[in-house]
Amino acid sequence: MRRCDVHFLQAGYCRHPEVATLTGGSLSSAVFPALAGLILHPIEGPVLFDTGYDEAFFRATDPFPQRLYRWLTPPTLPEQASVRLQLKRFGLSPADVKWVILSHFHADHIAGLRAFEHARIACAKSGLDAARRGGVVRALLGGVLRDLIPSDIDSRLVFFEERPRTALPGAFRPFAEGSDIFGDGSLLAVELPGHSPGHWGLVGRGADDGLHFLVADAAWTCRAIRENRSPPWITTAFLGNTRSYRATLHNLHRMQTDAPEVLVTPSHCAERAAQIETASMDRRA
Ligand SMILES: [Zn+2]
Repeated sequence: MRRCDVHFLQAGYCRHPEVATLTGGSLSSAVFPALAGLILHPIEGPVLFDTGYDEAFFRATDPFPQRLYRWLTPPTLPEQASVRLQLKRFGLSPADVKWVILSHFHADHIAGLRAFEHARIACAKSGLDAARRGGVVRALLGGVLRDLIPSDIDSRLVFFEERPRTALPGAFRPFAEGSDIFGDGSLLAVELPGHSPGHWGLVGRGADDGLHFLVADAAWTCRAIRENRSPPWITTAFLGNTRSYRATLHNLHRMQTDAPEVLVTPSHCAERAAQIETASMDRRA
C-alpha cells in the first residue's frame, strides 16, 4: 500500500451514559470525542475522513424538531476545535482539502462538510440514499440533519460501491477486500455494516509504515473491540441492525486479537483520543 501521513483531529465531544454504548457499562455520563482523520496523500493532497462537530451543527439543530438531536446527545465544541479551524496548524485552509471521505451520514460525522466546498466527496451510495429517504423526522430519527449535506453534493460524489475492489493486507483478516478510492491502493474503504445504513471504515498505511483502520462507529471504543462487547440491542436496533453490528464487532475483535499491530481508531473512543493528544504533544515538544 502507498503510504500517507495520517493525523487525527478531535472536533468536539458529546456526553451520554456509557451504558448506551456498552452492555453492562456505567449509567453515569461519559465523554465521547468526535475524531476526524486528516490524511496527507502524496499525490491527491489533503483528505479528510469525516469532520466531527462544527458550528454548523448548532445552526442545524436550532429549529424543532432538529433541536431534539442536540438534547439527546449534548455536544460541546470548544473554540477553534472544528476541523476547518484546526487545519491552520497544518498550514492548510478548507479550500486546500481535496477529498472528504464519509464513513456514514450521522450529523456528528458530517457537521463540517459544507465548509469544504472544493472537495470531492467519497461515500457509500446506500448511505446517501438512506439519508435522503423520507421526511425531516424520519431523517432525524436516523441521526441525519439534511441541512449539513451540501446542495451540490451530486456533482462531487464518488461512491465506494463503484470503485475497484482490492485485497487488504493479511493483517486485516477476516476483512478481505476494500474499495480502492483513488485507484492507487493507498486508501481502501471497507464496509462495516450494522451501525447505520451504508456505514464504511477506511484502511491505510501511515508514513511510519503502520497499518491504520479507521472504523468510525462500528465500535464506540477500543475496549468494546478488545472485549467484543456490543452496545445493548436497543441502541443498535434503533440506529441500524443488531445482528450485522455484532458480526462486524466480532470481526474487528478477531482482527485486533490476531493483529494487535493494526492501529484501530473508533471515532468516539476517549482512550484513542488521549493517545492521539499525547502523541501530538510529544511532536510539539
Ligand atoms: Zn454514527
